[in-house]
Formats: sequence, C-alpha cells, structure tokens
Amino acid sequence: MIISGPCSAESELQVLETARQLAATGKVDIFRAGIWKPRTRPGTFEGVGDVGLPWLRAVKEETGLPVTVEVAKAVHIDLALKHGIDVLWIGARTTVNPFSVQELADALRGVDIPVLVKNPINADTELWIGALERILKAGIRNTGLIHRGFSSYSKNEYRNPPMWQIPIEMKRRFPEIPLLCDPSHICGNRHLLRDISQKSIDLGFSGLMVESHIDPDNAWSDAAQQLKPQDFFHLMEMLVWRREQLPETDTHAELTALRGLIDQLDDELVNLLGQRMEIIDKIGVYKKNNNLTILQTKRWNEILKRGFARGEELGLTRDFLTRYLNAIHLESIHHQNEVMNSDEVKVSGLNHSEKGIKHVKGQ
Ligand code: PEP
Ligand code: MN
Repeated sequence: MIISGPCSAESELQVLETARQLAATGKVDIFRAGIWKPRTRPGTFEGVGDVGLPWLRAVKEETGLPVTVEVAKAVHIDLALKHGIDVLWIGARTTVNPFSVQELADALRGVDIPVLVKNPINADTELWIGALERILKAGIRNTGLIHRGFSSYSKNEYRNPPMWQIPIEMKRRFPEIPLLCDPSHICGNRHLLRDISQKSIDLGFSGLMVESHIDPDNAWSDAAQQLKPQDFFHLMEMLVWRREQLPETDTHAELTALRGLIDQLDDELVNLLGQRMEIIDKIGVYKKNNNLTILQTKRWNEILKRGFARGEELGLTRDFLTRYLNAIHLESIHHQNEVMNSDEVKVSGLNHSEKGIKHVKGQ
C-alpha cells in the first residue's frame, strides 16, 4: 500500500497538481495531505484548516484516488467525514497523549473508516500499543500502523532515528495489522529515502507513506524531505519488493537446513552467555572479598579493544560490536551487583562462594 502526497495542503492548485502528477505515476494507492498541522513551535504554518477539505474531494473526483488526512481532535473527524475523506491517520504528536487518542476513539465509535496510527514521538512501544488498542476498542475494524521514527536528543543522521526493534516488536504483537513505513519523517531529507524504504520492505513492512510536492523546495512545511512526483516515481521504481513467505508448494529444503544451523548457533550463543555469567559471578565474589569496585575501567577498555579487533576481522560492524559488548557488560554488572550487595553471600573464598551465589539466584 503506497500513500503519497504533500506534507501540507497549501492551495487548491498545489494539492490538485501534486495529485494529478502522482496519479499519473500509477504508483499511488492513497493520496495524503495535512490539513491541520501539529507544529513544534507556534507561529509556523499550522495548516490551511477545513478550507482545504474540498480540495481533497476534488482530488478524489478527478483522480479516483482515495484520500487521507491527519486528525488530532474530535472536530477534525467530524469535518473529515463530512467531506468524504476515506482514511484517517493519527500523528506522532497525538499518539503520545492518551487523552487525545481517547477523544478520537470516542468520536470514531460507530464510524466505519480505516484509521492509521503513527508511532508516538518517543520510543515507547506500550504507548503505541495503547493508542492502537483505544482505536480497536472503539470498534474500528480497519487499522494500520505507521512507523515514522523516534525523536532523539543527540544529533543524528536521521531526523527521527528508526529504532527498528520497535516496529519489529509491533509486527510480532500485531501480525494481522498492516505496518507501513514513513521514510520521509524518519530521514528528514531526500537522499536517505531509498535506503530506509528498502530496509522497511526487507523487514516485511506492507507499504510506505512518502511525502511529495510539486515544488518541494518551496513547501510550507517539511521542505527538505519531500519529493517531486517524478522523483517519487523513480524511488518506487528502484525499490525491490520481496515476499515474506515462500509459497506452500515450495519445499525450500535449503532454507530449512540453513535455519537449522542458525537455531543451533543461537542455542550455543545463549549457552555461552550463561557460562560467561557463571564466571562473572565468581569474579563478583572475588571483588567482594577483596573490596574491589565492580567497574574496572581499564579491564573494560581491554575487553572492548579485543572485541573490536576480533569482531571487525569477522566483518561485524563497530556499531553492532559496541551495542553487543555494552549489553553483555551491563548484564555482567547487574550480576555482580547482586552477588556483591546481597547480605546472604557470606563467603571467604571462591570455593565456598558457589553455594552463596546459588542462594542469591534462587531469591
Ligand atoms: C506528517 O505526516 O506530516 C506529520 C506531521 O507526521 P508525524 O506525525 O509523523 O510527525
Ligand atoms: Mn510532514
């Protein structure tokens, strides 16, 4: 499912011309335009408001494309329905607020319209789930999720870093609900769009929402990330869609064998981690008895250096190795914290310690 259109509706001409050119690409299923824009700062363009809704009706009549707008208040839903809008979406700044989402859910009760729920601005899976649940509870049968990345304090190559583990978790929790990617708001620029779009497709997303505009550089909002309709067409042409499942008739013996190997290796990795933690516990006892701190910075630097050297030889990225080693290190610190700060471990040497550790573990 491909949704495209301008970040904001600005004028009848801009909306209609963008829609005509997009429809001509043959790549769009739904036309989007923001009518009410939730902006970070007051005084910036906050959308044309309901005068823009008839422009969308004109798009529908002329191109035959269904149209979608963002709604953030009950009154937006009323107006959108009155003007024949086909699909509604809830923006990231609304999903964060359970009061707002509940107001929308109440207004949707008894209405039959598809609703797409963007992720909240902050990386909180439960908040995203909560918003979806409120909409489902209101009786909306047709829902979808849109991944638009998460706000980050640190400077980043993305406007909203994708943090793929969160949409992957949503797909696992709601396998039946279509998950779309909005590469425009993730990237915040045009040059990363292809990468992010393809990545989402490779992760099994079922569609995209991409912002496009007849004159992106002069757009009234999100100028840096919108595509001209012809560039949107080229982007769509470059993307490779893959299937998540092989047809039932394929024997796919080779894939099954390779997956068997992966399962074995995963088992070994977990066993090794368990063994590593047993030794970590013993070191914890040693540190306790010798009054040493848990964190030994010099030793930690050595571990990182060794890990990077070996890992990079094997083709693992430094970014992955950093996250992996940090995760193991944090778990180790957590283990030693338990060992060292539990009053129940009263041991004087390594040999005695094992009993104490077991005791702690059993708590
Ligand atoms: C938008 O789609 O133009 C928009 C405001 O997006 P988000 O809610 O993801 O910031
Ligand atoms: Mn936008």
